[in-house]
Amino acid sequence: MSAVTAQALREELEALARAALDTDDLAERTTYLRDAAYLALDLGDAPQAMTHALACLDAARRTADLALQARAHMTIALVMGDVHDDVGAATHFREAEGLARSARDARGVAATNVNAAHYDQERGHFASSVLRLLTLRRSPYAAALEHDEQGKGLDQVFHVNFVRGAASALLGLGVDAELRASLEARRDEMNAQLQESAAALRRLHRREVPLTNSRWLTDVLESLLIHARLTGDPPLARQLADEWVQLAGDWNVTAQLGRALLGRAELRAQLGEWPEVRVDAARAAELFGDDHPSRALSARQLLARAFAAQGEWRAAFEVQQALSAQAERIYRAFMQQSARLRIIERQAIEAEVRAAAFAEAALRDPLTGIPNRAGALRRLDQLVRAARRGRPCAVALLDIDHFKSVNDRFGHAAGDEALRRVAATVTRSIREVDQLARYGGEEFLLLLDGLTLPEARRACRRVGQLITEIDWEDVAPGLRVTASIGLAALRPGLDREVILREADAAMYAAKAAGRNTVRLSVTSG
Ligand code: GH3
Ligand code: MG
Ligand code: MG
Repeated sequence: MSAVTAQALREELEALARAALDTDDLAERTTYLRDAAYLALDLGDAPQAMTHALACLDAARRTADLALQARAHMTIALVMGDVHDDVGAATHFREAEGLARSARDARGVAATNVNAAHYDQERGHFASSVLRLLTLRRSPYAAALEHDEQGKGLDQVFHVNFVRGAASALLGLGVDAELRASLEARRDEMNAQLQESAAALRRLHRREVPLTNSRWLTDVLESLLIHARLTGDPPLARQLADEWVQLAGDWNVTAQLGRALLGRAELRAQLGEWPEVRVDAARAAELFGDDHPSRALSARQLLARAFAAQGEWRAAFEVQQALSAQAERIYRAFMQQSARLRIIERQAIEAEVRAAAFAEAALRDPLTGIPNRAGALRRLDQLVRAARRGRPCAVALLDIDHFKSVNDRFGHAAGDEALRRVAATVTRSIREVDQLARYGGEEFLLLLDGLTLPEARRACRRVGQLITEIDWEDVAPGLRVTASIGLAALRPGLDREVILREADAAMYAAKAAGRNTVRLSVTSG
């Protein structure tokens, strides 16, 4: 247990980030990045957590694995929840649950709900968290809790969250009228589950059952403490609170110690031990500082209550006043934090768009803007497959005549413009399903989808005619451009190389016939 310290967590975090970079296995990378995001959250570093969570989603998307993507969305949701971006968090939770359902990943659905319940509780929505967990418990996805094959301890997290949620709701915390009715309707069910979950936590606390993750011990203590407050067992509650504070102090993770002190202060407030409340609440407020402003706020409110309870009105008033003065600063800190996360998120989206643009650019010819050879071959492969299913398709190779002399007589720039104009003219004249690509130099590949050979020949003649009609006055007076076109029909069983050879041979036949003409492949005809 002593292995949990801020320093150890930071080292583990660095190791995970390195491991994520080192591995080529995308599934493994998503796991490392997700764990890194959770660790960064534990350390109170939301921007770093967000960076890892988004990288995790990026890696998960590159696998076709919906369950992995669901988990990545859940991680992002928890990071957004941590900085109080409720809208963002809710969106990613929904995305996660939807993907997990599509993937028929019961564990993913269960995990999403268990985590969303925790998130509800962080906002003080205890009743809705309990309703969510009860619904999960009764759904088919609950099997993932019973048979925790992967040994990830999801059942343990469920019990921690259920006890914390139900005990807090029953203590009257964060329950509005509407939810009170829904909860009342399921009171027996809730009490039965509360007993079962509390018993499970006690077994974990007594080490009868090993904790899957030693870091969860503080959560177990927190939940048991609230439960002891509910059942009215002050000695037990005190003992649990002291143990929690002791443990968090040993770990030396500021936020954890702050939480433990606040938890003990709340117990002491319930017991009316106001001088002790003052000590714990003041220390907690100091520990939370500006890093955890909303928790610091809760601690200060409790501190003000303690002063007031002891009749120290002036001190109570001063704490309250400092609190309001801080409110604007806290608000600004929240906004900046979520703005920072939004920037990180936007950068990730832009990187994704850029990557897509690069992939698209790799298939395009920069001079003419039409697809290049790689783009053409990709489309040709589709047509080869379509032809196998009996669809008529045709392939034409179009070579500009005497292009060398165009360059020689009018200059290379005029040659470039000629290529651009031929590409634009032909592309405009063909149908959406057809494709003109620059195959190389002054050669173009024309892919005609769904056309029989006679139809394709008509199309090619029209294309040849259009090229001769291009107006070159503004480029080079006296320029005349024609093309020789070789046409071949795709037949079932023909592969890419064969059809290209046929079209090439037909194109040479067109050259031999005097250029500016269309010839059919002898094998096609
Ligand atoms: P043919 O009618 O037999 O096809 O004669 P040709 O002159 O068109 O054929 P050849 O293969 O001898 O010459 C092709 C010329 O195309 C040579 C090359 O300089 C020119 N060319 C290839 N790519 C480009 C380009 O991007 N821009 C320009 N301006 N010229 C290019
Ligand atoms: Mg050529
Ligand atoms: Mg040529």
